[in-house]
Amino acid sequence: MHEKNKVLFLLKIHNLGEIMPMKVIFKIGGSVLTDKTDPKVNVRYDVIDRLAREISQLIAKDYRFVLLHGVGSAGHVPVKQYELYKGFFSEKQLIGYAIAQNRVNRVRQAVLDALEKNGVPGILFLPSSFILADKGRIVKTYHEPMVKIVQTGIIPVLSGDMVADLTMGLSVCSGDQQAFKLAEIFDSKLIIFGVDVDGVYDSDPKKGEANLIKRLTYDEVKNIVKKVGGAAGIDVSGGMKGKLLEALANKRFFDNGGEVWILNATKENMLTKALMKETDEYTRITR
Ligand code: ADP
Repeated sequence: MHEKNKVLFLLKIHNLGEIMPMKVIFKIGGSVLTDKTDPKVNVRYDVIDRLAREISQLIAKDYRFVLLHGVGSAGHVPVKQYELYKGFFSEKQLIGYAIAQNRVNRVRQAVLDALEKNGVPGILFLPSSFILADKGRIVKTYHEPMVKIVQTGIIPVLSGDMVADLTMGLSVCSGDQQAFKLAEIFDSKLIIFGVDVDGVYDSDPKKGEANLIKRLTYDEVKNIVKKVGGAAGIDVSGGMKGKLLEALANKRFFDNGGEVWILNATKENMLTKALMKETDEYTRITR
């Protein structure tokens, strides 16, 4: 090929790449959607509505999302009270499982309502109906129907859940763990965790002076994870530490060029600004 034509050809490929919809696994943290320190189901409707609007505007710009959300105290409180995090060992826990589902459904519905209000076709996919775990880790997913439905343009909405577990009977399956599995299923190279702090700090920013770490490599996460704490309030899935441990458990995602961004989703337009490269005030984890 003539040198000039070759350049034009490459430019075309590059442009094609840019107009292909970008698939983002976006997890809205329980710390964003709810007040995790309140044992009642305390949903922040205004925050959900604003995020749904932002998502709707980004979809209009050709971004495609797989949405995940945390459940905050809606799930964590009954899961703790009925010791469901230890697995299933007593019939007395069953009503606790039902209570947890029913409380979490209120958060799920709030997210779905906000999406609908903003014209986003979000559909709930209940993780416990298609995920199988063993000792708390996802070992099998029955995701074909979801993938087929998502090909129509539907935006899947998933959340933290208690799923069937081969050894424990039942186990907690955090949205953080699901994020990496969904990236694999939907072939996404970008996972964004929206939380209530600006990213990963050198110590818990809610407990005093701390510095934001803007860039981390996979190997650096191994060292930093020792300094990172759990969540504020009631949490059974590990807080910021849980997210970093999930990242470490998914080396292949990074080896394949995947990135994890952790940003403050309580700040207006932060998601948009990060995607548009208008800010670097968040943590970006790369290979
Ligand atoms: P979510 O429920 O939104 O997914 P978590 O509550 O699990 O998020 O995790 C975020 C929380 O982790 C923050 O609110 C923060 O208080 C806590 N945290 C503990 N240590 C750190 C740290 N070193 N850097 C950032 N956040 C930290």
